[in-house]
Amino acid sequence: MTIKFLGYRCSLCAAEYQPDEAIYTCRHDGGNLDIIYDYDALQRELSPEAILSSQESSLWRYLPLLPVNEIHAAGTPMGAVGWTPLFSPPELRDQLGIENLWIKDESRNPTASFKDRASAIVVAQAQETGVEIVVTASTGNAGAALAGMAAAAGQKAVIFAPKDAPPAKIAQLLIYDAQVLLVDGNYDQAFDLSISASNEFGWYCRNTGYNPFSLEGKKTATFEIWENLMRLKSFETPLAVFVSVGDGNIISGLHKGFKDLQALGWLEYMPRIFGVQAEGSAAIANAFKAGGEEIIPVAADTLADSISVDLPRDGVRAVRAASQTGGAYLTVGDDDILTAIADLGRVGIFAEPAGATAYAGLKEALKLGMIGSNDPVVVLNTGSGLKDVKAAMQAVSPAEIIEPSLTALEQVLQRIG
Ligand SMILES: *Cc1c(COP(=O)(O)O)cnc(C)c1O
Ligand SMILES: [Zn+2]
Repeated sequence: MTIKFLGYRCSLCAAEYQPDEAIYTCRHDGGNLDIIYDYDALQRELSPEAILSSQESSLWRYLPLLPVNEIHAAGTPMGAVGWTPLFSPPELRDQLGIENLWIKDESRNPTASFKDRASAIVVAQAQETGVEIVVTASTGNAGAALAGMAAAAGQKAVIFAPKDAPPAKIAQLLIYDAQVLLVDGNYDQAFDLSISASNEFGWYCRNTGYNPFSLEGKKTATFEIWENLMRLKSFETPLAVFVSVGDGNIISGLHKGFKDLQALGWLEYMPRIFGVQAEGSAAIANAFKAGGEEIIPVAADTLADSISVDLPRDGVRAVRAASQTGGAYLTVGDDDILTAIADLGRVGIFAEPAGATAYAGLKEALKLGMIGSNDPVVVLNTGSGLKDVKAAMQAVSPAEIIEPSLTALEQVLQRIG
């Protein structure tokens, strides 16, 4: 295997590690590691045009900017991750009074969430280094994504998820034929167990906010935003990007992607990044609002299971994604999240609670005057509503049940007007 990156750098103490060191987090302080590239060499060898003319309609079009050497599992669902659509629904633009509004629909990924981006790169990495078993802890989506990508690539996967994860997510794990272990505890306990198991049995660990390659997959969403939007249009004010936050790895990945583009000289200004957390699971937002980087765990309680996290594993970088870009953190209640599910549904986008959270955050930011009507805005829908049908049903009124007769139908139509 040839190694394509220069090494790892700790996000806390800046300690550097060699690319061939098998390492997850900093040995000194447990800090998250950033993967560093030779940007000068990349700049010499690569032009934006080379990427723009790629025939790959997936995240693999960014292979030169990824820490893997080749496209893996082409012709399978793993070859179809990313390159998700940007929608600009007129009704939402009118409602919010924002002319330039886009929803990037990550539910279109093969296992129906943003997590496929990370799992594709981690499975590719596993294949290049020849590991036998990949393991992850998950609230559901990371596991489904790992199980799905592993199935596509013929890789063995072990998944730890809380036993009360939404049934659709557990079904995905089983259908993709992973070794599934449902933990009688919460996500944080599943996380700790997966790390112990990884250390004990030598399994390769994908965990969010632990494995440095997961963030490298997640950054690819920004390359798509850059390619599909920022290169085509010039805006008067910086782009604002809204994303929901649990462990903080997606938002950190967005920051890294934009930083990569700046380091290459391909991006003039840094977009403002806005993180949105559920009020009941707001450890990172709390740190941001306190003006520091100290992440104090909470006892997480929200219906948005994908962002229900006591101790975020990528909290410091997640704070910086907002503080270093002129963005901010917002918190929204579960009621706001349910309303946002209904808002998006009305324009044909079906989001799970954590997916709709970002949209709820945009509404809050508008209320607080953080976003003006001229600001271009991208909101990520990170997961499909089919992942959590129980929550979806809470966002709408129940359907009428009628006798199978025209009379009964007429009566109901009269009553509901
Ligand atoms: C994992 C996930 C998030 C949050 O990502 P973090 O990296 O944990 O902050 C948001 N939405 C969905 C649907 C997810 O699965
Ligand atoms: Zn360190």
